[in-house]
Amino acid sequence: MANLELDDRGLVVSCASCGQKNLLAYGRLGDEVRCGRCRQPLKAPGEPIELHSTADFDRLVAQASVPVVVDYWAPWCGPCRMVAPEIAKVAARKAGQALVVKVNTDELVDLGQRYNVRSIPMLAVFAGGREVARTVGARPAEQIEAFIGQSIAVPHS
Ligand SMILES: [Zn+2]
Repeated sequence: MANLELDDRGLVVSCASCGQKNLLAYGRLGDEVRCGRCRQPLKAPGEPIELHSTADFDRLVAQASVPVVVDYWAPWCGPCRMVAPEIAKVAARKAGQALVVKVNTDELVDLGQRYNVRSIPMLAVFAGGREVARTVGARPAEQIEAFIGQSIAVPHS
């Protein structure tokens, strides 16, 4: 998405009111953050964020104050294209409660290997810096949301 970038500490988002770029720290993703210039509340990211480096992935997952939903996909994967609009719906509805990111396993091969991603589309939920659940296969947004809810409702110690 054009108005969102990643840096070492968080997401750089443009204010919808004044256009000012603001840093939304990974550790404050669930908080109400206001624009540094005009003080309007910044909208939580409501679209899947495409990741392009393993370092970005690691920082985000380690620091995020909300669960991170990872959509593992690849350009050649037909079911991945089918599930993409469902993932986008989930990202919009879960804005501020969860962050949805996309990992192209052809591009970030090391992540696919590290997490043993053998079949895509695969969705994984990370909370507290580690994976708490995963599921393989395309499904509608409602089922994806139910899966996320179940993943984070179970206490993990
Ligand atoms: Zn502003």
